[in-house]
Amino acid sequence: MNHSFDIAIIGAGAAGLMCALTAAQRGRSVVLLDHSAKLAEKIRISGGGRCNFTNLNVKPENYLSDNPHFVRSALARYTPQHFIAMLDEHGIRWSEKELGQLFCDDSSEAVIKMLKDDCEAANVRRYHSCEVHEIKPRNSKDRFEIISSRDTFHVTSLVIATGGLSIPKTGATPFGYKVAEQFGLPMVKLRPGLVPLTFRPDEWQPYSGLSGLSFPAEISFGKQSFRNELLFTHRGLSGPAILQISSYWEHGQPLSIDLLPGRDMQALFEEHRSSKMLMSNFIGQYLPKRFAEVWLPQFGENLPVNQWSPKKLSALAEQVHHWRITPSGTQGYTKAEVTCGGVDTRALSSKTMEASAVPGLYFIGEVVDVTGQLGGYNFQWAWASGHAAGMAA
Ligand SMILES: Cc1cc2nc3c(=O)[nH]c(=O)nc-3n(C[C@H](O)[C@H](O)[C@H](O)COP(=O)(O)OP(=O)(O)OC[C@H]3O[C@@H](n4cnc5c(N)ncnc54)[C@H](O)[C@@H]3O)c2cc1C
Repeated sequence: MNHSFDIAIIGAGAAGLMCALTAAQRGRSVVLLDHSAKLAEKIRISGGGRCNFTNLNVKPENYLSDNPHFVRSALARYTPQHFIAMLDEHGIRWSEKELGQLFCDDSSEAVIKMLKDDCEAANVRRYHSCEVHEIKPRNSKDRFEIISSRDTFHVTSLVIATGGLSIPKTGATPFGYKVAEQFGLPMVKLRPGLVPLTFRPDEWQPYSGLSGLSFPAEISFGKQSFRNELLFTHRGLSGPAILQISSYWEHGQPLSIDLLPGRDMQALFEEHRSSKMLMSNFIGQYLPKRFAEVWLPQFGENLPVNQWSPKKLSALAEQVHHWRITPSGTQGYTKAEVTCGGVDTRALSSKTMEASAVPGLYFIGEVVDVTGQLGGYNFQWAWASGHAAGMAA
């Protein structure tokens, strides 16, 4: 069967739902297509089931992109306060956790229901379990023909909101990137982001017994650094600080880890210069003892502090604050929270998300080369870019 709509949106996740309800509330006829039986799976599993839906401190600097100014316009026009007002209107309770991160008090299902209800109230037509087989450009008012497993749709505007590659079991596919390729849009190389880092098994062997251990540290790569929990796993490192830095890390390059941020190890050594305590016990007062015992042997014998020369103490203090360690890779898309890279934003309007070279074609959410840091920034981008396209398409 053939249908005509003003707008088709492919992908009923965070960005697609926001775009659909925004456009439909403007009186546009909207069809929303998703190949999954269940919509918005990533909202459902996000924030440990309570959806960290935004961050009060959203700034363009919280996003990675080859075109860093691109996010400014959409983020300025749809702010965290707009989304909060929507939740309040629907009576959804929320709280600030830390660092401006806002979570639902109950379940992330409440956010999905709110978006779905607003789509329904505005007459968005939703198709689930609907595979899109082909998109054909047309030379008429209805610029696109969409042939799907359910029906054929003729639309003036087509919005691609199919997200990134992470967690394939949630329905993630490379569909959006293929559409970009079909229409000749440039891409920025894809890689997993917000992902645990791995190390060569022989190199990691001494640390593998520390799996589950976590303590605060500051991890740096280039100009970026994050202070938060560092978590040891069987294969490498994880925890919020590692997830954050993983989006910036470049393959083959070392990370620098400050194991004792905010303290001065050199000053502690000088203060306790004559201590007869074994070095592992001494540093074990400041770092977890299990870690100290595994880590120390690379840098010297476990002698009492007073038997370490001033030069060796300085070198050890340097290692405490600048432990350089080179990951061999990441745990990949099965464990990554996001996909870095995507449709090159230099080919899109920052105001509307429309492709400059293809009138009527829009890309929103994670499928574009905009990746937020951990802490609610990715959903804020999904809402803001979805809203921008919904106001324009
Ligand atoms: C475990 C986890 C936890 C997260 N927690 C948070 C958090 O707390 N806060 C935060 O800000 N971000 C979080 N994120 C990131 C956030 O979920 C994403 O950035 C956000 O969902 C992207 O929105 P989107 O609409 O672009 O894509 P998605 O939400 O991924 O939606 C894409 C939709 O497109 C559909 N689709 C895909 N391929 C096709 C196709 N071929 N045909 C039709 N439909 C298709 C999918 O089924 C899906 O419904 C988390 C991610 C993960 C994986």
